[in-house]
Amino acid sequence: SKAKLFDKESKINVSFKDVAGLAEAKQEIEEIVAFLKHPDRYTKLGGKIPKGALLVGPPGTGKTLLAKAVAGEADVPFFSMSGSDFVEMFVGVGASRVRDLFRQAKAKAPCIIFIDEIDAIGRARGKNPNMGSNDERENTLNQLLTEMDGFDTNSGVIILAATNRADMLDSALMRAGRFDRQIHIDLPNLKEREEIFKVHLRPLKLGADVDVKFLAKQTPGFSGADIANVCNEAALIAARGKKNEVTKQDFLDAVDRIIGGLERKSHVIT
Ligand code: ATP
Repeated sequence: SKAKLFDKESKINVSFKDVAGLAEAKQEIEEIVAFLKHPDRYTKLGGKIPKGALLVGPPGTGKTLLAKAVAGEADVPFFSMSGSDFVEMFVGVGASRVRDLFRQAKAKAPCIIFIDEIDAIGRARGKNPNMGSNDERENTLNQLLTEMDGFDTNSGVIILAATNRADMLDSALMRAGRFDRQIHIDLPNLKEREEIFKVHLRPLKLGADVDVKFLAKQTPGFSGADIANVCNEAALIAARGKKNEVTKQDFLDAVDRIIGGLERKSHVIT
């Protein structure tokens, strides 16, 4: 069977209203939506549209969601690939995937290319003694750099990439004309967690005792993805109890469960 090259979604139904909090990141990225929608506004003044932006932040904080929202808001196709797909790949395959990705994207411009976990490809060269030969990863990285340099900045293709380790990245990626913008995303604060809860409570049938402010207070250190999990888990717990609505207690049980999961995860890591 032929391995999948990358994902292409021509219609994205994520918009900025699905992304809670992240006010600053949204503001910065709104300009990219404007570049995609009205490129002439910038180019007729002689300005160069940036080629790409790097979204930097901890896991589950909405980087992929935000990238999709850009495509959704601008109503352009979304091409995506994950850097981790290139780990342990046969020689030459990674580079040819990158080539195919850019070729197809250019044909569909304006569009977004999104590279998740770019650190898997873009790690600073020669910094991973455990991995044996890094040739394939380097080939892939070099192809990515070549592609980014090779297309016209006003071609309508904008590349977004995500990482939780910007410090690990090869500085070549951050040079002008490549990912020359960085957008930082942090774990949500109390107010932001409240906003994220609101998004994920929307589809649930809630009991009268559920209070979003209370839920936000119970979840310090939770990412957006953790909060989405809590909401889903609470609904499952309520369903298991054959209830007609999801109650405060279901949320408390779900929070406990997610905290248990997070603790196990951090034990494995440390
Ligand atoms: P990773 O680094 O693990 O790839 P990520 O930062 O790309 O994570 P996403 O995949 O965007 O995180 O988030 C996972 C899910 O968590 C989203 O699909 C969404 O349901 C929820 N989520 C995360 N952040 C937010 C947010 N700010 N607003 C609403 N939902 C969010």
